[in-house]
Amino acid sequence: MSEVETTTPIQDPAAAPAGDGGRVGLIGLDREDIAAMMAALGEKPFRAKQLWHWLYGQGVREFDAMTTLAKPFRALLAERYSLARPAAAEDRLSSDTTRKWLFRFGDGNLAETVFIPNEERGALCISSQVGCTLNCPFCHTGTQRLVRNLEAGEIVGQLMAARDAIGEWDLPSDGRLLTNIVMMGMGEPLYNFDNVAKALRIVMDPEGLSISKRRITLSTAGVVPMMARCGEELGVNLAVSLHAVSDEVRDDLVPINRKYPIAELLAACRAYPGVHNARRITFEYVMLKGVNDSPADARALVKLLKGIPAKTNLIPFNPWPGAPYECSSAAAIAKFARIVNDGGLSAPVRAPRGRDILAACGQLKTESVRLRGGKKATPKRENGHISEG
Ligand code: SAH
Repeated sequence: MSEVETTTPIQDPAAAPAGDGGRVGLIGLDREDIAAMMAALGEKPFRAKQLWHWLYGQGVREFDAMTTLAKPFRALLAERYSLARPAAAEDRLSSDTTRKWLFRFGDGNLAETVFIPNEERGALCISSQVGCTLNCPFCHTGTQRLVRNLEAGEIVGQLMAARDAIGEWDLPSDGRLLTNIVMMGMGEPLYNFDNVAKALRIVMDPEGLSISKRRITLSTAGVVPMMARCGEELGVNLAVSLHAVSDEVRDDLVPINRKYPIAELLAACRAYPGVHNARRITFEYVMLKGVNDSPADARALVKLLKGIPAKTNLIPFNPWPGAPYECSSAAAIAKFARIVNDGGLSAPVRAPRGRDILAACGQLKTESVRLRGGKKATPKRENGHISEG
């Protein structure tokens, strides 16, 4: 899979970094913020509802399109506020139709967002941080140094920009292409809980972006103390990056295990608010040759998850340059899956998506680092895709 198709880079003035020109970015403001803003402008409370509708329900990109607001008020808003989304520094389409954007935020930092369309649904994989502090040695993203939390507006902004790009705003709500959200991009969402929570509340609002909690999955490496709040306050589906069945192996693969070992992690899963058979926890398990992929590991996995409403997701390791691991053989993966299945757990093997554009799980790194390090340059063509470098 080396063939890379090209999409035109988005050259859109409205795609300037949020908060540009000293104007306040509106994306990421919640209902309270907008109510306070309207009050400060001396406007009646129902104006807040109208702005909310244009902002998140219609996704308009110019104040002038907000036709229920008086023209002079639109002009005043345009002067002081901005509807800008994060700018796409790169926009690439995989031969399997997975699409990856590298978004640039107001301070020049970059993070990836991946759209994975399927026949029935489309999932957007959203980043919660620039880089990651977890240092999982099999994950390319995790080896990235620079880290900051993304703001709520930068998290919601990824969804807004993706909807812009795929022309989603004009579609009827039952014809949507982007139906699901997975917080599985760069970063550990439970290390940035407040911003992630604020963003997801905006995303779930039925009068706005309107993606229900049943269609949102948050993935954590196991920040145990934050898991209950995630379930109570957001009620989203939980995925846990388990990847190993013993503390010995997991201490290496997912170093946060040294702080919150498997027993504590699974106790938090058992106690996850609202967990029952209809809303099982997904346990992600990356298949690494000779490390965690033996039949004994599979049997131990079944034993470990006993009593937890669980399903597993077996992820063939996605290689990256210089990675110290190899993907398990197809036969080993099939055998592993069979044992887990026979143990009563659903164990689909996740088909890798977007490997050719380094958009698959754990591959989100190289380019954000490369581009951040690089000076400003004009977009250039490289390997059949357009990038800055
Ligand atoms: N920090 C959170 C969110 C990231 S989710 C978490 O760890 O859950 C990204 C998922 O992809 C995680 O399950 C991660 O372990 C997995 N992953 C990372 N690198 C991978 C790789 N090279 N191949 C396959 N899966 C990988």
